[in-house]
Amino acid sequence: TPFRQPAEDGGEDGEITAIVTLHDITAIKRSEQMRADFVANASHELRTPLSTLVGFIETLRGPARDDADARDRFLAIMQEQAGRMSRLVMDLLSLSRIELDEHTHPTGETNVAALVQSVVAMLELKAAARKITIKVQGGEGLPRVQGDEDQLTQVFQNLIDNAIKYGREQTEVVVTLERADAPPMPGATGIRARQVPHGPRIQGIKVSVTDKGDGIARTHLPRLTERFYRVDAARSRALGGTGLGLAIVKHIVNRHRGRLTIDSEVGKGSTFTVHLPAADKAEKAVPQSAPNL
Ligand code: ADP
Repeated sequence: TPFRQPAEDGGEDGEITAIVTLHDITAIKRSEQMRADFVANASHELRTPLSTLVGFIETLRGPARDDADARDRFLAIMQEQAGRMSRLVMDLLSLSRIELDEHTHPTGETNVAALVQSVVAMLELKAAARKITIKVQGGEGLPRVQGDEDQLTQVFQNLIDNAIKYGREQTEVVVTLERADAPPMPGATGIRARQVPHGPRIQGIKVSVTDKGDGIARTHLPRLTERFYRVDAARSRALGGTGLGLAIVKHIVNRHRGRLTIDSEVGKGSTFTVHLPAADKAEKAVPQSAPNL
């Protein structure tokens, strides 16, 4: 029959089914393990500032009760720890919301150039505090992107925020907007998506964020978008990071049938590039492979 598998694909249809099932079980086990790790990591991240808060509350109610100096210092630390918990909870909520609608198609057409300008305006003060200037180039006449404005805002907020955090003081962060063909792309998980052999090239845009910072060693790159993966956890925490920013970016970009690429050179800096298909082309874009978790 026309549906019969050729012999070199594994012989009898029954055998092929068995192999597929085994793969599925492995994938389910892996995703269960990742979910368990995620819950453990999230709990740990929340427990640390929480224990600090409880410790300081006890001290303030006990030994430091009448020490005005200590009270001011402790309250400042408590405020910082509460802020850290609040950022973490916000990021966890974002992730879970994104996960819920990851397999739906975003509606609405977004002018990414305007959106990037407003993100830059939002982050200019933070950049100035590190004597960093943000330069935006390109962006005229770009096609609109079919996308969720709030989610795309989060993408560029996280990327530009990272560039400011990890960039060296007194340097420039450059955001470049260009028209580009969005190629049929491998999924962010590394599983190659189906290619459309003779399909039309997908027109889209490309936004890159370049910093002059420490850069990221090659070995870290494949894991950088995993939840809670950090090159230097202590440094990330000191800078107010949650370790979830790039995971959020990856999920949103996947939902928009886009692609995130990272180029980095240790000692020089990094470029994070987001490719997004243009609005009227989004339907024809190649679907992404299933996200991990
Ligand atoms: P975080 O909240 O820790 O910044 P992210 O998910 O945004 O979490 O990023 C994960 C890790 O990737 C960071 O902890 C940092 O080690 C690394 N990283 C992200 N962006 C950059 C950058 N622009 N330059 C150097 N390292 C970066």
